[in-house]
Amino acid sequence: MDDCLFCRIAAGEIPSAMVLQTENVVAFRDIAPEAPTHVLVVSRAHHVDVSALAAASPTLLAEMIDVAQRVADSECGGQFRLIFNVGPKAGQSVPHVHAHVLGGAPMGRVLP
Ligand code: 5GP
Ligand code: ZN
Repeated sequence: MDDCLFCRIAAGEIPSAMVLQTENVVAFRDIAPEAPTHVLVVSRAHHVDVSALAAASPTLLAEMIDVAQRVADSECGGQFRLIFNVGPKAGQSVPHVHAHVLGGAPMGRVLP
C-alpha cells in the first residue's frame, strides 16, 4: 500500500521514534502522546483493522500482543491499556491496524 501512512512508517520511508521491531511487527511512539508511554504497535503487512487481521492471521495478531507486552515490560512495569479503534466512528483515523499501548500513569475506567 504505497499511500498508507503506517505501511510507509513500517518500511522506514517515513521517520518515527521506533522502540521495537520484529520480523512482522514494528512499535513506535505516537506523535501526539496521551500517556507517559504511548506506543503504536503495527503489523508490517497491511490490514485495515484488528477484525480484518484476526480473520486473516490470528498468529500475527498474537505477535502484536506479544510486542505490546514487551514494550510495556521495558517502559511501564508490564501494565498497560491496549486499544484498537475499529472504524472512524470509533476514532480510527489511520486505516492500517494498530494497537495503542498506553501506560505509565494510573488510568480510570473508560466506561461508566
Ligand atoms: P487512531 O486514531 O487511528 O486510533 O490512531 C492513530 C494514531 O496515529 C493517533 O494517535 C495519531 O496521533 C498517530 N499518528 C498519526 N500520524 C502519525 C505519524 O505520522 N507518526 C506517528 N508516530 N504517529 C502518528
Ligand atoms: Zn498500510
